[in-house]
Parts: sequence; C-alpha cells; structure tokens
Amino acid sequence: MDQSTIPLVDLKAQYTALRADIDAAIARVIANTSFIMGPEVRAFEEAFAAWCQTRYAVGVSSGTAAIELTLRALGVGPGDEVITTPHTFIATAEAISAASATPVFADIDPATYNLDPAAAEAAITPRTRALLPVHLYGQPADMDALADIAQRHGLALVEAAQAHGAQINGRRVGGLGHAACFSFYPGKNLGAYGDGGAVTTDDEALAGRLRKLRDHGRSSKYVHDELGYGHRLDALQAAILAAKLPHLDAANAARRRLSARYNELLADTDLILPFVPEDVTPVWHLYVVRTPRRDELLASLRKQGIEAGIHYPLPLHLQPAYRGLGLGPGSFPVAEAAAQQVLSLPLFPEMTDEQQERVAAALRYHSRRA
Ligand SMILES: *Cc1c(COP(=O)(O)O)cnc(C)c1O
Repeated sequence: MDQSTIPLVDLKAQYTALRADIDAAIARVIANTSFIMGPEVRAFEEAFAAWCQTRYAVGVSSGTAAIELTLRALGVGPGDEVITTPHTFIATAEAISAASATPVFADIDPATYNLDPAAAEAAITPRTRALLPVHLYGQPADMDALADIAQRHGLALVEAAQAHGAQINGRRVGGLGHAACFSFYPGKNLGAYGDGGAVTTDDEALAGRLRKLRDHGRSSKYVHDELGYGHRLDALQAAILAAKLPHLDAANAARRRLSARYNELLADTDLILPFVPEDVTPVWHLYVVRTPRRDELLASLRKQGIEAGIHYPLPLHLQPAYRGLGLGPGSFPVAEAAAQQVLSLPLFPEMTDEQQERVAAALRYHSRRA
C-alpha cells in the first residue's frame, strides 16, 4: 500500500500552521509561571465571550465539568430530571448524573440527529428542571422550538455545544439558552492541547456562581462559601486556546467549503448526505453520511487507509452504565437506527483536495446508485 493514511482529524497539520503563535503562548505562560487562573484565563474568557456574542465566559476543566457545574449553578440536584438526547457522547448524560440528577432521554430528529423538540416536550414530568440539547456534529439543535418549550414549562435551557461558532438566523451558538457548555477536547473545532471547557452566558449571577463553583466555592484565598470543585481551566490551555481563537472563523470556513465539496462529490451515490435546515449555518465538526451498509463500508475504507469513524455506535440508554434506567432496545427507535447507520468521514480544515477526492472515490466505488 503506497498511499498514506487519511486521518479522521489531523491535529498535526493545524499545529504546523499555527506553530509560532502556539509556541510563543506556551513559552509565555512558563516564563511567567502563572499556571493557575490569572491573566491568561481572564484574557481567553473575554475573547471567547466576545466571539460567542455573550456577556460572560467561564473557563473550566472540560466540557463534562462545564455541564455538571452549570446544572449545579442552576440549582439542579437530587430528584430533578434533565432531558437530553441519547445520540451523543456519554459525558452529556454523565454530567447530569454527576450533578445528582437523572438523565431523561428523548428521541432525535431523523434528519438532523438532534434532539426532537416534540419528543423532548412529551418527556417532561413535574420533576423536569432543564432541557440539555446537544448541537451535534457542529449543527445547532432546533433552539427556537426548544426555547418555546422551556419557557412554557418554566425550564432552564442549556446548550451542550459541539458547534463552536454555528449560527441560527445569524445568532451564534453560546447565547441561545440560559447557558452554553463548550468542550475544548483536542479534536473539537476549537481544541486545547489537553482538556478544557467553558460556559458562556448573559446571566451575571450565573457566571459568578460558576466562577465560585469551579474553584472550590472560594470567595477569597482561604474562605469558601460553599463546597465546589477543582474544575478550573488550566492557564497553559487558556493561552493555547487564545492563540487559536483568532483562526477559528477561517478554520470553520474551510470546514464549510470541504463539506460543500463532499456534497458535490457524493451527490450520485446512494448515501444519505447531511441535512441542514434553511436558517442554520453549521460549523461541520463532523461530516456524517448515513447508509444501511455502514459496517461494510467502514471496513472497506479502513482497508484503504481512510479513517472514518462512528459518532456514536451505542445510544446512551443502551450503555451498560445506564442499565439502571431500565430502558431496553426499542425505547428510542430513531436514535437506535442512526447509531447503526451513521458514518463520519475524514474532515479537518487543512484537508487537501487530493485527500478529499480519495475519500470520495472510495465511497463512490462502493455506493454507486443501482
Ligand atoms: C466533547 C463532548 C463532551 C465531552 O467533553 P470533554 O471536554 O471531553 O469533557 C460532552 N458532550 C458532547 C456533546 C461533546 O461533544
């Protein structure tokens, strides 16, 4: 095999492009030895809030911590229910459980793979406190419908964003609910060089509560108003994220261009291509196609050195860790079918035309219309 592997994401290509800025940021933090909180974290928070068009951003240690802290800060706790999607990474529900609340799943929309607002509304009980939609694959959930439901039922609306910079009618993700939880896991559209996360909000009191909770409930160096967490954003990660943020719009534009090209290259196959509602501008965290022959296709791509992926192969209600919820196969048929048929194609801003054409050629060979 003389062809090189095409990865699902290529973090090295991104580092190579931004090397001077990132190396300088790392060197600066080490030279200043301001490793915990301090000016680097503050500067990134201000820049990220401005970029998300929100008043506040609070840096935290991961996306999972962002969700857990937000739910705690909103007063969600034991006996409360939070409605979310079963078609996501386990951390979404795990953070609800970590906040001592119960995740309640509702099925997804078959076209967008995002939480179905009607299903979410049907899952509301007197114990429901919040809706936690995920902006899956870089595409915002139906926030207008979900905001209407949240308002009518007096629920908090928290975004879990896999969609840094995505828009609905020109409004950016991050300010579409009471708070938005971001992960800066390395492979996300804005990725740290380790773990990191943030919560954005326009609510000053909520931001203050989050700042306290992430840092041991501290009100001054050795006074702790309440029990919190060691969930601060590392200053090194904040400096790296601040160095990368100015390049994020261009990176998202490159993802949009590559996705449009995939749409063209795969138009004559029997693959189901991504559906984007008219008012939505996604940022293509992943480019996901759908086919009943998914496992066969995935194996063939891998044999040709093309690293496609599955996001996500097992819905959360069928995870062994959530057996206790007592939800068997058939509980959420749309999510269960998606888990068996979705396939994420290689996509990263630095992907070359040659790489993309090789992926498309392999797919066309296996998926030509009869
Ligand atoms: C990435 C991601 C998480 C986890 O974030 P971490 O930073 O790894 O804790 C949770 N939920 C969703 C939807 C994600 O995309």
